[in-house]
Amino acid sequence: MAAEPDEAYGLVIGGVESPGAIGETDELLDPANNRPLARVAVGAPDDAAHAMEVAQRSFESSEWAGGDGARRVKALVRLAQLLEQQQEEFAVLESRNMGKTLREARVDIGYVVRTLEYLGGLADKIEGETIPVPGSRFDYTVREPLGVTVHIAPWNYPLLLAMRSVIPALAAGNAAVLKPASLTPLTAIRFARLAKAAGVPDGILNVVAGPGGKLGEALVRDPRCRSVSFTGSGEVGRRIAAIAAERLIPTTLELGGKSPVVVLPDADPERAARGIALGIFGNAGQMCWAGSRLIVHETLAPAILGRLRALAEGIRLGPGTEEGVEMGPLVSRDQATRVLDYVQAAKEEGGAILTGGSAPSEPRLADGNFVRPTVVTDLPPTARAAREEIFGPVLSTFGFREVDDAVRLANTTPYGLFAAVWTRDLALAHHLARRLEAGMVTVNEPPITFPQTPFGGFKESGIGSEQGTAVVRSYTRTKNVLVNIGLPKRKG
Ligand code: NDP
Repeated sequence: MAAEPDEAYGLVIGGVESPGAIGETDELLDPANNRPLARVAVGAPDDAAHAMEVAQRSFESSEWAGGDGARRVKALVRLAQLLEQQQEEFAVLESRNMGKTLREARVDIGYVVRTLEYLGGLADKIEGETIPVPGSRFDYTVREPLGVTVHIAPWNYPLLLAMRSVIPALAAGNAAVLKPASLTPLTAIRFARLAKAAGVPDGILNVVAGPGGKLGEALVRDPRCRSVSFTGSGEVGRRIAAIAAERLIPTTLELGGKSPVVVLPDADPERAARGIALGIFGNAGQMCWAGSRLIVHETLAPAILGRLRALAEGIRLGPGTEEGVEMGPLVSRDQATRVLDYVQAAKEEGGAILTGGSAPSEPRLADGNFVRPTVVTDLPPTARAAREEIFGPVLSTFGFREVDDAVRLANTTPYGLFAAVWTRDLALAHHLARRLEAGMVTVNEPPITFPQTPFGGFKESGIGSEQGTAVVRSYTRTKNVLVNIGLPKRKG
């Protein structure tokens, strides 16, 4: 069932959904037409304190943390099954709230199902070690959950990015408090309802929507907060890291990118063009790891640019929930304006618009936050639009002759999240993969990831990584236990 305009969503604390301390609600708008979509309770700092208190109590009293890990496996796998049964309803809700196409939303929800299965399945496999030490001693380590973990999520993949850190934290036995983005809290709230039905004890997963500056900071400052996982802008990431440093708590930051896509002269132009288009126009370009800078060998540039233009112009724009639509609106009017301002800045700094560069002209899309898929050429690499994260369907393109120049250009921004290489020469591909300063590199693939592969950035793209088996351990702490097992000396 899709969200109806008068459907209300509350704060989920301790398994109870409530209007929150101040009783205010926020009206969410459908990005496809800016009409009211749903109302959501606005959490305040008092709600943050309440959520942390309840989470701490549940952590201490329920068997989630200390008990048999198999219980957590069962609950998380059951949650995966329930989510899979409701995949379509979740996908429709995600699409209506955020604007992404139904097809994209279905993939996102399927990804959360898979994450629950994969990382949830590790909950009873968190093992310590025995360590040989001198003398009659026995030394071993135990991995304990941290306590209450805080998760602050963005709006571009609302459920997927929230659950990317919440699920391993739960698998490790922690109690989580999630603050979704104010624009897109609906699927997270619905997920919390489902967690209860799956047997996750009350208070182990809490969801509080509300303004990041007040509610989000209150969560991070709370003395019960034992770790923070944040995905979003560099500016807020730095602020959270500063607070976490004062409090001496571990932090995972997944921040932005300006990711290069290097196309070598021997690449298959058709395959490369399709991959490049997917990497920048997918999710309407609102991806931290969008391949937003195309660095293409001069000999292949005409073929690739021609094909990209045709692909961009063939993309069908429309409301995400409409069947056959290939690109939805941007999440908000502000985001669409921000993206178009970058396009204007690109023109002022010498860029030429190969295609797109404006809102679509169809009257039926006039009330939504649509931006046409855009390709900019001739931009100096130092231009703002070439260096800063636009977070929209805008591709900047650059040419190169020598591979060293391509690498230099690729590594030139302060970011280091992702890089792609397109070539038939696999030896060169591996060589480039080593030289590119990025936490993730794909060869002959658009940006693609799986719950079993680490996801994280270098440089200003973040600290730490999510996904992969190691992530569950990152939500634990190590305790070393040393026991003297020497027998008492016999007298006489
Ligand atoms: P923000 O970094 O502002 O928001 C991300 C999350 O942090 C939201 O839940 C937000 O809450 C919360 N938040 C905001 N301020 C604070 C704070 N002081 N303390 C704690 N939490 C806080 O991203 P925006 O949504 O404003 O997007 C701005 C830009 O950031 C985008 O255009 C894009 O460039 C980048 N971005 C990158 C993402 C990525 O995946 N790497 C994802 C989203 C954005 P609230 O929603 O209430 O503001």
